[in-house]
Amino acid sequence: MDLKWVDRSACRGIDPIIFYPVTDEEAGPAKSVCSECPVQADCLEHAISHREHNGVWGGATERERQRIIRRRRRARTMGLPLEDEIASLSTGVVAG
Ligand code: SF4
Repeated sequence: MDLKWVDRSACRGIDPIIFYPVTDEEAGPAKSVCSECPVQADCLEHAISHREHNGVWGGATERERQRIIRRRRRARTMGLPLEDEIASLSTGVVAG
């Protein structure tokens, strides 16, 4: 598992508790840090591929990651191109 990207993460040194909000509505502070992170895409892929079930990873909550997984599955099935998921997260529009 290549985790070199972790060394460049924007969350290094930040209290990890903000990345484990109780509700999605409380995920704003974590998402704000993630939106400025140079390794957001790597982090999101890591969380999706390792089925991380808790916390904000790559700017996405667990519920948003589940939506991304469903959307990817649907796109694969239908032969459609994938949308820019990071852009969707930053605008808060992640269609299910
Ligand atoms: S995307 Fe967010 S959680 Fe992931 S490494 Fe960057 S700041 Fe940390």
